[in-house]
Amino acid sequence: MNVYLDHSATTPVDPDVLNQMLPYFSDSFGNANSLHGYGRTAGQAVDRARTQVARAIGCKPAEVYFTSGGTESDNWALKGIAAKHAGKGKHIILSKIEHAAMLSCARQLEAQGFRVTYLDVDGEGVVDLEQLKRVVDDETILVSCMLANNEIGTIEPIRELAEIAHAHGAIVHTDAVQAVGSIPVDVRALGVDLLSLSGHKIYGPKGIGVLYKKTGVAIEPLIAGGHQERTMRGGTTNVPSVVGLGAAIEKAVRDLDANAARIAALRDDFVQKVLAAIPDAIYNGSRTHRLPGNANLSFKYIEGESILQMLDIQGVAVSTGSACSSGSLEPSHVMLAIGCSIPQSHSSIRFSFGRSNTPEQVDYVVEKLAKAIGTLRAMSPLTR
Ligand code: PLP
Repeated sequence: MNVYLDHSATTPVDPDVLNQMLPYFSDSFGNANSLHGYGRTAGQAVDRARTQVARAIGCKPAEVYFTSGGTESDNWALKGIAAKHAGKGKHIILSKIEHAAMLSCARQLEAQGFRVTYLDVDGEGVVDLEQLKRVVDDETILVSCMLANNEIGTIEPIRELAEIAHAHGAIVHTDAVQAVGSIPVDVRALGVDLLSLSGHKIYGPKGIGVLYKKTGVAIEPLIAGGHQERTMRGGTTNVPSVVGLGAAIEKAVRDLDANAARIAALRDDFVQKVLAAIPDAIYNGSRTHRLPGNANLSFKYIEGESILQMLDIQGVAVSTGSACSSGSLEPSHVMLAIGCSIPQSHSSIRFSFGRSNTPEQVDYVVEKLAKAIGTLRAMSPLTR
């Protein structure tokens, strides 16, 4: 049996989404900025997608900017605000558990003389708002915190964070790449000025994303070029992928409640069965403020990488830490931030459930996982 439990890394393109994309590779191949009929057809498709995104996140179409993905949107938010507002101050605040797309950018800005404060999180991964109140000052130009964490699925109190930041005149960004399509996301209700999202996490294509920018928020472009995206993001528009993102987000939001309930039930059943069947298993993260599809578990005395490989042989796809940092020998910065020891961090596995998963798959994975862990512990010097 093949079981895909890595939906936080990426998702397959939904067949309906793919069908809507296909004409824009062939018959309707025009450049969305061309003034003739081919261009108009492509341009109208881009406008439609912009409206679909706007409806899904509760903003105006003119506040939606297409990018090449979550990483570019995150880079743009951070570097674009830093470049535009450095005159006001050079202080930026992030959470410690941001995605590498944010943290790497922040390190680049630190090298350019910006001061970055990294907010702690508690044992469940929830950001420390009391610390935010202490460190935010009149030089703070940007406060950014993800809406949901990619490793442990914790959902952050962004609305409260935005209120604190705005009281000090700072701009607020949230990386909602993992949240969109899994939990309701409304930019007005969240009170954010900037928000990043990505196509491939919501059953759309890879290499396409959005930066939402509230009207009136000033930002420097990241990619200089032609007049695309109201001269804010140069480069010929990737029409098929834009169409795919529009179709994907519309469907994800329409079916959100039903999918989230079904996926959370599968995840809960899985966690309960794992904790019952496997001794010394720890459920990392929050039980309440958590994405419906995320389960992050540590299995004492063994390495996550070995579990991953044994499950892979059985057709089960999971992840250690985040997909982007796997392959590195460093313990996950997220696990360390929630207070895990280095061994517990190395023994953690992320199981991320999605639309295709079934109750039969849950039972299959619990059985294979229990077997793999039994075998690995029998070989581990730490259990002797
Ligand atoms: N932010 C978060 C929280 C993510 O999980 C990811 C992808 O793993 C990204 C940003 C990067 O998005 P993309 O793969 O579209 O560049």
